[in-house]
Parts: sequence; structure tokens; C-alpha cells
Amino acid sequence: MKLKHVNKSFGSNQVLTDINLEIPAGQVTVLVGPSGSGKSTILRSLNLLEQPESGHYEFDEHLQIDFSQPLSKKDLLYLRQNTGMVFQDYNLFSHLNILDNITAAPRHVLKQSKAAAEATAKKLLAKVNLADKAQSLPDQLSGGQAQRVAIARALAMNPKFILLDEPTSALDPELEAEVLKVLLQLAKEKQSLVIVTHNLAFAQAVADKIIFVEAGQILYDGPGTAFFSEENQHPRIKRFISSMT
Ligand code: ATP
Ligand code: MG
Repeated sequence: MKLKHVNKSFGSNQVLTDINLEIPAGQVTVLVGPSGSGKSTILRSLNLLEQPESGHYEFDEHLQIDFSQPLSKKDLLYLRQNTGMVFQDYNLFSHLNILDNITAAPRHVLKQSKAAAEATAKKLLAKVNLADKAQSLPDQLSGGQAQRVAIARALAMNPKFILLDEPTSALDPELEAEVLKVLLQLAKEKQSLVIVTHNLAFAQAVADKIIFVEAGQILYDGPGTAFFSEENQHPRIKRFISSMT
């Protein structure tokens, strides 16, 4: 997917200025940058939780959006089905057990049968190491377990991209490690991931591509390896990395 010349303001506060970026399929793209720089706004624009006021979005060969025009319901539905979102605070449905959390959208949006949706959900729960939690309620899980359910729930829709906004920043280090392990496994399987994180060690381990955002603009867009290598590093990036480590 691609954003071209995208601008977004909240009232008089312009938070994204002429954003141009490409997020390749089959890779892990990590967005980093200081607090308030616009990372979440970029991620939320990618699944239209926010609508920028201008610019273009080329999602895939079927969907191109001109942000200055009203969005059709059909386009919004296609986009939402193909971008799974994982939030910092999990956002599980508290009144549904884990299995029902994962099968709700496949059954009601994709019209899968109960049996088919449950078979997929059980495979996904095994994949995130939670096969024994199908009947639990969300508040019976640790934060790390809840976040792995949220990842399984996103995978159940088989979206083209999964977008994760600081998926581990609410977690203690041990619980964070369980979640990062799952994300590293998905990366190995070439699942397309877009991750916002403040965890630079994880970013370095997982990112094919890094996008560094500052004050609503992109200061770096390129391979993870070059971002972290000290040669030719932009002084601002050097300062950012040393402030975080
Ligand atoms: P953090 O690392 O703290 O999560 P971020 O890089 O994700 O920061 P954003 O949440 O994208 O930053 O915010 C960018 C700017 O837009 C900030 O100045 C923020 O105050 C503003 N902003 C974000 N969402 C809204 C909103 N719904 N209404 C008004 N202003 C907003
Ligand atoms: Mg944010």
C-alpha cells in the first residue's frame, strides 16, 4: 500500500504534512518516532479510522482512494476487511469468550459457518500458544495473553495487512516477550505487518523497513539495517536512538 501527498489536521493543528510512503506486502514495516509525531495518525489513516483531508491512498490493485472525496461504504468495508488492527489496550469484547471474540467477525462479516470459523480460531489460538483458553473470558487473561488473542482475532479475517499500534507498551517485560515472539514468528511467515513501537531492540530485530516520523513528516524511510547502522546516520536519528536506549 502507498500514501501519496497526504495531509491531516485536527482543527488548526496540522499533524501530517505531505506524507509519502510505501508499505510492501510480505514484509514488516516499523514506524518509529517521538511521542506526538503522528505515528498513530498514519496507522489510523491506513485503515480509515481517520480520514486525511487530502492526498491519495493506493491500497491495492482494487482500491484507490482520493482522500479529498467522500468515501463509499463499499470501499470502506473492503479496506476494513483487509486491514486487521491491533491496539495497545487489546479491545477484546469483554462479554464474549475467547473463541467467540475470534469468530465474531468471520461469522458476521465474512458469513463463515460457525464450524468453519471455530476450526480456524482453534488453529490460530494454537499458533499464539493459547489453545487452552478458548472458553475463557477476556478478564481471566493476562495482558500478554489478551494481546495474543487480539492478534489471533486480526489473523482470523485473513487481512492483507495487520496494523499494530504499540502492541506491547502496556505489558511488563515478560509478557511483552510472549507477544514479540508471536510477531517474530508471523514475520518469518511473511505476514504483512505494520508496527508502531517504542521498542527499538524489537524494531531492529523484526523490521525489513523502518519509517521514522518527526513532527508529521518522514525523516527516514528505508531498510532497518541502514537505520541502525551508525555510518551516515542523520544526527536527528542518532539523537533519537540514543535517547531511547
Ligand atoms: P505517541 O508515540 O505518543 O503515541 P504518535 O506519534 O502516535 O504519539 P499521534 O497520536 O499520531 O502521535 O498524534 C499526532 C498529533 O496529533 C499530536 O499532536 C496529537 O495531539 C494530535 N492528535 C491525535 N489524535 C487527535 C485527535 N483525535 N484530536 C485532536 N488531536 C489529535
Ligand atoms: Mg501513538
